[in-house]
Amino acid sequence: MRLRLFNTLTRSLEPFEPLEHGRAGVYACGPTIYDHAHVGNFRSFVFYDLVHRYLEWKGYDVRFVMNLTDVDDKTIRAAVAEGKTISEYTEPFAQAILEEADALGIRRADRYPRATAYVDEMIALVERLLEKGHAYRTDDGSVFFDITSFPEYGKLSRKNLDEARRGERVSEDEYGKDDVRDFALWKASKPEDREAGAAWPAPWGEGRPGWHLECSAMSLAEVGETLDIHLGGEDLVFPHHEDEIAQSEGATGKPFVRYWLHVRHLRFADEKMSKSRGNTVTVQDLLEQGVDPAALRHQLLSAHYRSELAFGREGLEGSGRAVQRLIDFRDRVEEVHTDPSAAISGIGGKAEEALERFEGALADDLNVPGGLGALFSFVSEGNGILDRKGDRVPPEEAERVLEVLGSMDEVLGLLEVAGQSRTVDAETRHWIEDRIGEREEARRSKDFSRADAIRDELAERGIVLEDSSRGTRWKHVGTRPLVG
Ligand SMILES: [Zn+2]
Repeated sequence: MRLRLFNTLTRSLEPFEPLEHGRAGVYACGPTIYDHAHVGNFRSFVFYDLVHRYLEWKGYDVRFVMNLTDVDDKTIRAAVAEGKTISEYTEPFAQAILEEADALGIRRADRYPRATAYVDEMIALVERLLEKGHAYRTDDGSVFFDITSFPEYGKLSRKNLDEARRGERVSEDEYGKDDVRDFALWKASKPEDREAGAAWPAPWGEGRPGWHLECSAMSLAEVGETLDIHLGGEDLVFPHHEDEIAQSEGATGKPFVRYWLHVRHLRFADEKMSKSRGNTVTVQDLLEQGVDPAALRHQLLSAHYRSELAFGREGLEGSGRAVQRLIDFRDRVEEVHTDPSAAISGIGGKAEEALERFEGALADDLNVPGGLGALFSFVSEGNGILDRKGDRVPPEEAERVLEVLGSMDEVLGLLEVAGQSRTVDAETRHWIEDRIGEREEARRSKDFSRADAIRDELAERGIVLEDSSRGTRWKHVGTRPLVG
């Protein structure tokens, strides 16, 4: 099944054809690392990861690059307020974002370029734009892009050039520009820039790069002149991506991006949550509160990327149950009695059909809800078949089911994250087993309140007990952090 993507540039679904057969060069607009990333940022990052995983699943040789913006107005202001340089200030946030991304199963990008490490490339790009007459210098040493030199300006956002920047406030440091619609490529230094270590020498004067310029320079350096896919949040279409096109195409004369994909933002379904931290909720907050990372990943994937996602407690709980259902089914199939003489149960065939439906959904503009639908209807069907067959199937069927679940999970990453977050170290395992022993003891001596208290203590840590005639089994359901 051929992948079709909704290209923001053409506002239509197009078959995906990369520049070079079998390869895909992808650039994603990453976060500005002046604060912890909030859950809305992570909707984007999980979507970027979906694209990354999907392309690898289909066998593409993927070059995946996501930038970390470590110099802009907000970063400089925040660094100066704390008496730090921008690199001292941003480093902990960069580390935190990568750790949270790991916790959510986001595959590492090939590169995470930081703007401050590409200033030479940015200066070279400004020089090219000056040479080609797309830019001009002002008396204070700033450089602006001349929007009238690029007649295609507005082709992505479909904004009328005259209306494009009407009403946009012209900031004080941009008084020198010829036209209010022009945007800064290079901003002459101000005292706080120097204080924060955010001032670099350039042929036209000391200063710092404009934010839009950063992405053009880094994608050019790390992916190439023409990107197969450029990813970003919907709020970046204008002016950020429009400006990236003007700069990149203005400099190279080549198409900048073949497919533009934009992810919609999430809205908070419950008021309380959105207010918990000045209208943002960070992934760090959620993980510290004991939210299961696999449930969070499921929730962020659960709406199609071009649809709004209503984020809240209820949805997260539903996601937690869905992930648990998936794990339980996988475990059940792993433990099934494989019997070479058993008649074909049909579960292998159902797995095959589910994989086909899953593939079809994903190929259709990365329709994850459709893919999850295929997976979870199969989980229900599979459980029904195992109920009827008394958990006894031919080995090749069990194997095929596990292969299919594994294959789908290369794209979804749910079992992968659940496996990561539910790993119990030896010390904790001992502790759990000791508690279970104590509970047995309490039950034998009819001290049921003590036995219940132990069960609750374990449940607090996400450990659920299942009593049966064969004894007590435990499993880690991952809704609480493990502190052993
Ligand atoms: Zn960008």
